[in-house]
Amino acid sequence: MKEGTLEVVTNHSSLLGECPVWDESNKTVKWVDIINGDLHSFKTGSEEMETFNTGSMTGAVVVRSSGGMIAALKEGFAAINLNQQSCTLIASPADHPGIRFNDGKCDAAGRFWAGTMSLNGTPGKGKLYVLNADFSIDIKLEDISCSNGVGWSLDNTKFYFIDTPTRQVVAYDYDLINCIISKKKVIITIPESEGLPDGMTVDADGMLWIALWGGWKIIQCDPFTGARLHEIKLPVSNVTSCCFGGDEFEDLYITSARTGLTPEKLSSQPLAGYLFVIKNSGCKGLAPYSFAG
Ligand code: CA
Repeated sequence: MKEGTLEVVTNHSSLLGECPVWDESNKTVKWVDIINGDLHSFKTGSEEMETFNTGSMTGAVVVRSSGGMIAALKEGFAAINLNQQSCTLIASPADHPGIRFNDGKCDAAGRFWAGTMSLNGTPGKGKLYVLNADFSIDIKLEDISCSNGVGWSLDNTKFYFIDTPTRQVVAYDYDLINCIISKKKVIITIPESEGLPDGMTVDADGMLWIALWGGWKIIQCDPFTGARLHEIKLPVSNVTSCCFGGDEFEDLYITSARTGLTPEKLSSQPLAGYLFVIKNSGCKGLAPYSFAG
């Protein structure tokens, strides 16, 4: 694969940059800073970043078909209208305090899948939820420690999921119509020396691009064989997630974090927390699904 050059998108460092998503309606890349509760937006060529603060820790954000965005805040799912600068809670799971939402994404039916994790790192306190178009919430998985990357096979018969501390990427059989996952199978295990699997995206060939927290890289893997196809090294240790964007979905956007790094470590990776892009990556992604409600 012939790849373009890695660039910094804009001169901004997030504490915990996450969940990049391409917004086709206005050709922007959006991403969150989970801890600060910021939703960032950058229009290619404008050299300007816009930021909306949700007022709460913001784990994930998706584009809404009817306009605006849906975010997974600490308290639950919220509708965001950037024109009106408003953020309204629409649905909240009956969860106990000490939990926050983390990564999430929409499936081909326009449901928003997002999972949770404990704020103090207690294992097994997280769940994976689905927000339906009517704003009802279903629980899909329990006893999760750090719910992270989600994705689907191109034919929507597989659901891919990462619970970060397991160091595994798992696949479930997926029934898109009835929204049922079954038959868990481990497809990839990340060696301890390479960090922890975090966010991921699926490309136009159905391959997985997985961000490695503490691993200084993004890897491309074949979910059917588990084979590693490609690696992209980053100048930062905590690589958190990635997505494809741009006119032809040929640009790979990559988020990172600076939280938890000592001043010493930070001085050796001054770009920690930045959003990166590889324009004309040599690989293509697909338009993300938007929330149907
Ligand atoms: Ca993540």
